[in-house]
Amino acid sequence: MKRLLFLTILSLSLTVKAQTVPPLKITHLTGNFYVYTTWRTLDAGPYPANSMYLVAPSGIVMFDTPWDTTQFQPFMDSLEQRYHKKVLFSISTHFHADRTAGIDFLKSKGVRTYSSKMTYDLCKEHHEKQAQYYFTKDTTFTVDGYTIEAYYPGPGHTKDNIVVWMSKDKVLYGACFVKSTDTKDLGYTDDADVKAWPASIKNVMNHCPNPAYVIPGHEGWDNNKSLQHTLFLLKESSKE
Ligand SMILES: [Zn+2]
Repeated sequence: MKRLLFLTILSLSLTVKAQTVPPLKITHLTGNFYVYTTWRTLDAGPYPANSMYLVAPSGIVMFDTPWDTTQFQPFMDSLEQRYHKKVLFSISTHFHADRTAGIDFLKSKGVRTYSSKMTYDLCKEHHEKQAQYYFTKDTTFTVDGYTIEAYYPGPGHTKDNIVVWMSKDKVLYGACFVKSTDTKDLGYTDDADVKAWPASIKNVMNHCPNPAYVIPGHEGWDNNKSLQHTLFLLKESSKE
């Protein structure tokens, strides 16, 4: 009886835990750019991961994939309902699952999936989903007059992290290379190169001048100061 009660409580608490992860959230950024957020439950509770997409006349371009695997289909359904357009391709910005989890799902829907060669290799090494295509150097994709530049600034959050720069709209998709001004520490750094990261941030500042929007991989993006904030956090962490 005790055991049964224990199992009941356990299953109840698991149910409650599963329900605490919010569903997919889509937020308009500027022009035809959107941020989408999915959550996974970590030890401290539900934790959000931001990704982006662009709605161009001939189709949708995704920057990274949803992290929450239960949201792959709802995400595709939501794009179909909102825009009646197909996803053309996706670009994953480093090898972690919050950027790559949905790659196989996208492939199964006929979406071309891209990453850098370094990310492609690290995905294999770490048993993460691998993109179908890779680029070996900085690559600019052009879709209906939008230039989408995949730029490798050097190591930071991971050794393969890239950012995506849309110079016309001054949108910088920093992903996990950039820390939100809402954060007080560097987050998960097991794969990071904190020594090289500051110089890599400065490379982005030079290469992507005056971004109007800077989108970090996690938490809020209500200002364009997250590059400076990441530098500040790196400086603080080097004193410890
Ligand atoms: Zn991340």
